[in-house]
Amino acid sequence: MTELICIVCPKGCHLHVDEENGFAVTGNSCARGSEYGQTEMKNPTRVLTSVVRMSGGSAHCCPVKTNGGIPKKDIFAAMDLLKDVILTAPVAIGDRIVPDICGTGIAWVATKDIE
Ligand code: SF4
Repeated sequence: MTELICIVCPKGCHLHVDEENGFAVTGNSCARGSEYGQTEMKNPTRVLTSVVRMSGGSAHCCPVKTNGGIPKKDIFAAMDLLKDVILTAPVAIGDRIVPDICGTGIAWVATKDIE
């Protein structure tokens, strides 16, 4: 039995995940907590945030995030994909900056409009 704190919402439910019983989750207040507990034990992922450099826009950098969870083992590789990126304005919220991070199908996307 593994104890986790659910980080999906601010309530922070204390989860118990039973690895010997099909990763059954108890202590969750909603279905999202059950899904989080199972994913965290089998293949933990995180949504990442960062910034990339801009050229010719009203700002020097643009905030970005992944549009889904990246497996923990791929986090450093995912961050490396941004180091040489220089965006050209304009940029719109949701623009895909780097598609298919490490073969996950998840993309880095812009989170701010920049003229
Ligand atoms: S189990 Fe549901 S209510 Fe509890 S912290 Fe997770 S998402 Fe929030």
